[in-house]
Amino acid sequence: MPQRRRSSTNADAESYRVQLAYLLERSPFYREKLGEAEFSDSLSDIAQLPLTEKAELRETVTPERPFGAHLCVEPAEIVRIYSTSGTTGTPSYIPLAASDLDNWITGSARSYAASGVSAGERIVSTYNAGPFVAGAALAAFDRLGLAHIPVGTGNTDRLVKAIELLRPEAVVMTPSYAAYLAERFDLRESSVERVLVAGEPGGGEPVFRAQLEEGWGAKVTEAMGIGDIGVSLWGECEEQDGMHLGAYGFVHPELIDPDTGQALDLDDGATGELVLTHLRHRAAPLLRFRTRDHVEVRTSSCPCGRTGPRIRCIGRTDDMLIVRGVNVFPSAVREVVSSFAPAVSGYIAVKPPTAGVKQEPPLPVSVELAQDATADDGLAEAIRDRLREALLVQTRIELVPWGSLRRSEYKSTLVERAEHPGSRAPA
Ligand SMILES: [Zn+2]
Repeated sequence: MPQRRRSSTNADAESYRVQLAYLLERSPFYREKLGEAEFSDSLSDIAQLPLTEKAELRETVTPERPFGAHLCVEPAEIVRIYSTSGTTGTPSYIPLAASDLDNWITGSARSYAASGVSAGERIVSTYNAGPFVAGAALAAFDRLGLAHIPVGTGNTDRLVKAIELLRPEAVVMTPSYAAYLAERFDLRESSVERVLVAGEPGGGEPVFRAQLEEGWGAKVTEAMGIGDIGVSLWGECEEQDGMHLGAYGFVHPELIDPDTGQALDLDDGATGELVLTHLRHRAAPLLRFRTRDHVEVRTSSCPCGRTGPRIRCIGRTDDMLIVRGVNVFPSAVREVVSSFAPAVSGYIAVKPPTAGVKQEPPLPVSVELAQDATADDGLAEAIRDRLREALLVQTRIELVPWGSLRRSEYKSTLVERAEHPGSRAPA
């Protein structure tokens, strides 16, 4: 049976009070950050407290203190240490106490259960979890009673054989890899009924999702987490209208205006940066952590019965460009371009001509044509016009032949910078 989320709960408010007191008692980082001044410990006043940035945490890391100054437990209490691959080359370590790990798995299991997978079914996973937090998501499959078939990343032959011979009902992978496979193999007649996608935004883009569903002959739902807070915190149900918070009771979500840091109401249709607070974490709890994920909120009631706001990820701040004062997410560009299917393949590359975030219009965008399609000026013009209408950005569209943009067996790179060729590290 799916677990139902209680709507705004007293339990969360009480957990928050206890967590705040715990931070003040045990976390050197938050003792200093929150200072001596009096403040409310009511969850409804959380927006009065300062936000936490990843960079601030990193600054407190030293060789003697590899976890940073927000570590709250004795070394013996730590049962798992994950890493995130930062862009700076040095990993940040994420320590977990036994109860933290258990809560992560519980939240992740709820998020994946929302997709409709059920005990007794088989699921093929393609994460190379290794040092990364995805390992905890894999434990969620045991929790759900699934038969888990790990095949790892980058071994397409092994994956295709596993699907053919072991006939799993579900697979879990990045949306980029799901697209890559659908393009190369005819999977429509396979045993796979559900494709669970996670690890990057895209699975919730309606046109992209429709392409994946067509290619796989299966239902596609997405899940999302953030290493510092928890893995697969959110997961879509079969209604496919935004991700429910599977980690309810463990994590409190907020929305802010990324430019001003001002808290925004979680109203239907609201967009902003997702901010998350641990409610029951022991090892290294975080308060009002900026995820750098830009999301859109849905509050309409969901027929599945789960309550609470749902979200869809629009993009990551790290990928964002500012074109004459307008914020542009490459994933949003892809979504608009994809609406021109079947004339286009859905692959794009945004090519900022100068280094840095700020760009002068027009922004060059390569758009890949569908197989057997030929370039036509009317199409480029129509794409440019629709991008201007939808995203308020001036672009220069270059149509390129099918197969000329890079496919990924892991995560897609939507931005190609001349001065920094190569791909981003996985996160
Ligand atoms: Zn639902």
